[in-house]
Amino acid sequence: MELPLSDISDREILDARPARNSLDVDRPYEFLVEPERGADGLIEHVATIFLVNRECSFRCLMCDLWKNTTVKSVPVGAIPQQIDYALERSPKAQHAKLYNSGNFFDAKAIPKEDWPAIVERVRGFKSVIVENHPKLCGDGCFEFRDMLAVHGVELEIALGLETVHPEVLPRLNKQMTAEDFAFAAEKLIAAGIRLRTFILLRPPFLSEEEGIEWALKSIEFAFEAGVSCCSVVGTRAGNGIMEQLENDGLFQSPQLSSLEDVQERGLNLGVGRVFIDTWDAQQFTNCVECAEQRIQRIADMNLSQQVIARIKCQICGAG
Ligand code: SF4
Ligand SMILES: [Zn+2]
Repeated sequence: MELPLSDISDREILDARPARNSLDVDRPYEFLVEPERGADGLIEHVATIFLVNRECSFRCLMCDLWKNTTVKSVPVGAIPQQIDYALERSPKAQHAKLYNSGNFFDAKAIPKEDWPAIVERVRGFKSVIVENHPKLCGDGCFEFRDMLAVHGVELEIALGLETVHPEVLPRLNKQMTAEDFAFAAEKLIAAGIRLRTFILLRPPFLSEEEGIEWALKSIEFAFEAGVSCCSVVGTRAGNGIMEQLENDGLFQSPQLSSLEDVQERGLNLGVGRVFIDTWDAQQFTNCVECAEQRIQRIADMNLSQQVIARIKCQICGAG
């Protein structure tokens, strides 16, 4: 697929947006508990709390996370209240993901005044995982790591890499290079902070085959940079600008078979954990006959981290 000559500006990305969701700041917009395989090989429960807070200040081309954020910063006290709301209604878990649709260490998103109250609420977990942009990894990360460590809680940071494709990454408008990612990773790992990353499968401007190839190259790059696990996300439309790219023939979501390929080949590298995001994965296939079983197989492989036999389908030819 040919790459476009010009970049897409913040303005164009903002102008294409549909409406944002209306949200309460005293409760998270979603929370769930699910099993996950840890770096130690144990399958344990992870409570993920999707916090409502001020929108991320970056304008990545493919991002639709802003839909569940606010325009203004949330008041001090709202984030701990949201955590309480979720934990009071959730089964027990060993790990907590505090995902804020942006960057935890952006003070406009998560007020620093709330850190002690947040730590108080997560002190019973083995680890806490937060999202952050590689360019925002400063002393705050080490300070928060130390506050958690007092209670024996480990800090893990999810750093988005997206892709290492040298022409696509700049066009994603993430305002970082693969080297910025590697630099941040080195600094955080040296400080005893575990890392995971998000990798996009078939971002805009790539064919299906190129999408697979660059997802695998990105996984290898991330493992070389020291991350302990890669979470691969099939790129989706839904934020306005992605639909425009789709109409212009510059973007298409990946096939479910490509998620399967990347998972198998990623696991066969034998370097670290590879997860495939199964959320809303039905959209990556038209076959109602095999979709459910194939997505279940992906979920099973996420847990076992072992390649298992493919599901064969007479209708679509999968397998
Ligand atoms: S840094 Fe993350 S949350 Fe912010 S716009 Fe980019 S993808 Fe979205
Ligand atoms: Zn099928």
